[in-house]
Amino acid sequence: MKFATKAIHAGQEPDPSTGAVMTPIYQTSTYWQKSPGDNQGYEYSRGTNPTRKALENCLAALENARYGLAFSSGMGATDAVMKLLLPGDEVITGNDLYGGSYRMFTKIYNNYGIIFHFLDLSDPEIIRKHINEDTKLIWVETPTNPTMQIVDIEAIAKISKEHDILLAVDNTFASPYLQNPLDLGADIAMHSVTKYIGGHSDVVMGALLMNNEELYKRLWFIYNATGATPGPMDSFLVLRGIKTLHLRMKAHCENGRVIAHYLKTHPKIDKIYWPGFEDHPNHAIAKKQMRDFGGMISFTLKGADLQETFRIASSFKVFTLAESLGGVESLINHPVSMTHGSIPKAEREKVGVVDNLLRLSVGVEDVEDLLEDLKQALGGL
Ligand SMILES: *Cc1c(COP(=O)(O)O)cnc(C)c1O
Repeated sequence: MKFATKAIHAGQEPDPSTGAVMTPIYQTSTYWQKSPGDNQGYEYSRGTNPTRKALENCLAALENARYGLAFSSGMGATDAVMKLLLPGDEVITGNDLYGGSYRMFTKIYNNYGIIFHFLDLSDPEIIRKHINEDTKLIWVETPTNPTMQIVDIEAIAKISKEHDILLAVDNTFASPYLQNPLDLGADIAMHSVTKYIGGHSDVVMGALLMNNEELYKRLWFIYNATGATPGPMDSFLVLRGIKTLHLRMKAHCENGRVIAHYLKTHPKIDKIYWPGFEDHPNHAIAKKQMRDFGGMISFTLKGADLQETFRIASSFKVFTLAESLGGVESLINHPVSMTHGSIPKAEREKVGVVDNLLRLSVGVEDVEDLLEDLKQALGGL
C-alpha cells in the first residue's frame, strides 16, 4: 500500500461489534475474563488497549516497520530505549540534539553509569574512533534541531551493523512522510508524535517503530513494566490527525520552500538553515534520504542583540511565539530561551545555537499571509 492509503486505513477496520467505521475510543482500564486467564487478548490498559493498538499498527505501517509502540510522550519513548542499557554501556550521539534528549542523557542516565559521546556526525567516519566493546547504542537525530544539519543514516547504519551496535533515529523533524530510517538500516525509529504526526498541537505522545521481534519484546516489556503509555482518547486524536499527514506534509514543504527562499535574500537575515538549499553543507545527503525538505527553518538576525531578537520574536501576528513544532499553525521559537534552555552556552554556541537565532515551524496557512507577517515583523522588503 502507498503512504496516503496507509495513513487513512492502516491498523483500522470497521469495529466488529457495531460496524463503526472510526476506531472507537476504548475508554477502559480493564477487561472481562471469562475464567482467570481466558480473555480476548486484553487484560489491563497499561499494557494493551484496542484504540492504542490500532494507532501502533498504523504508525508501524507508516515507517515500514513490523512493530510499533506508542508512549505518553516523545521523552517517554526515548527513555524506554535508554532502559535497554546497563551501567558501563556507552552511547554515541550527535552534538546538536533536542534539548530534552540532551538533558535526559546528561542529567539522568549519566548518573546510572552510562557514558555518552556527543560528536559532530556530519562525517560518519568519526564514529569509528569512539567505538569500543562497551558501545551499545548510536542515537541519531536528523535533520537536527534547530540548525537542520543532516546526518547520513545509511552510512551510520553500515558502521553500526559492522560492530553489532543498535542504531536509533529520532525521526521527529522529517516525519515518516519524508524519511524512513528503518529502510536505511536503522534498528529503531523514534518519534515525538506530538509534532508532525499528531499535527494539531493538541496531544503529547511518542512512538518507537522496529522490525526485530526480539527487540520489540524487550521494549514492550519496558513499556508495560514502567508504564509511560498513552490513553485511548489521545490515541484516537492521533489516529484522526494521521489521516491528513500526507496532505499536511506536502503543504508544509511547499510553504517552507517559499519562505526559505524569501528569507535567504532578506537584508535582516544573516545565516539561514534549511536543507533544501543547494549550498547547505549536507544537501546531497538530504536529497538522497528525504523525499522533500520540510517546513522547519532557522535563521540568525543580522547584528541583533538578545533584546532586539526578543522584540522581533514578539512582533509576529500570524506566527505564534511558542515551543513545539509540526502543527497546522505556524510557530516561531527562540531556541536559546525556550527549547534549548537546558544546554550549556558553550555547548550550544559550538553548533550555532546563538542568542540571535530564531526557528520557524512553517504551518499550512496561506503562504501570502505568512510572507506578509514576516515582512511586517522583520521590517524592510
Ligand atoms: C519534541 C521533541 C522530542 C520530545 O518529544 P515530546 O513529545 O515533547 O516528549 C524529541 N525529539 C525531538 C526532535 C523533538 O522535537
